[in-house]
Amino acid sequence: MTTFSWQTEATAEADTAAPPAPVFVSDATWGAGRPEVMVVCCSDGRLQECMDEFLQNHLGVRHYDRFYAPGGPGALAPSGYEFLRAGHYREDVTFLIRQHGVHDLYLIFHGPAPDGPDHAVCAHYSRVMPGGPPEAVRRQQAADLADVEAYLRGLNAVLRVHPYRAEVRADGHVSFVTMG
Ligand SMILES: [Zn+2]
Repeated sequence: MTTFSWQTEATAEADTAAPPAPVFVSDATWGAGRPEVMVVCCSDGRLQECMDEFLQNHLGVRHYDRFYAPGGPGALAPSGYEFLRAGHYREDVTFLIRQHGVHDLYLIFHGPAPDGPDHAVCAHYSRVMPGGPPEAVRRQQAADLADVEAYLRGLNAVLRVHPYRAEVRADGHVSFVTMG
């Protein structure tokens, strides 16, 4: 049998020592109130600045809960076979919607624009659809959105869903288009 105690010898000693000096203190203060907004988008860091610009400058969304996972909203859909993974992510999103009182949910897929580079295809979709052309990925994302929206409706939560797709153009800029 394994026993576990929070109060180890090492922590008992540490309790009597001075706390470590911070290496950094933010200028900003934390927001004590829940933003009631959540953004679900892909972990893909190549989009980060463009995504931040869209959220802040266009939508005026500055404070929000983040749910960043490979595939973004696609992580919430089985896409034909990833039932376990989608189920886990759905549980976590549902937890945040209920516990954080989320009322506005931004679902942002991504991929190339019609004239955009193939390597802008979301890696999650390259994994679930190996060799799938960008147009097939786009259709799968639309199907996944319908699937996710049906799931969210079943939660009977007061929720406004805002679906978008971030599309990388040939010139490197990113267009954001509405879906659904
Ligand atoms: Zn992605």
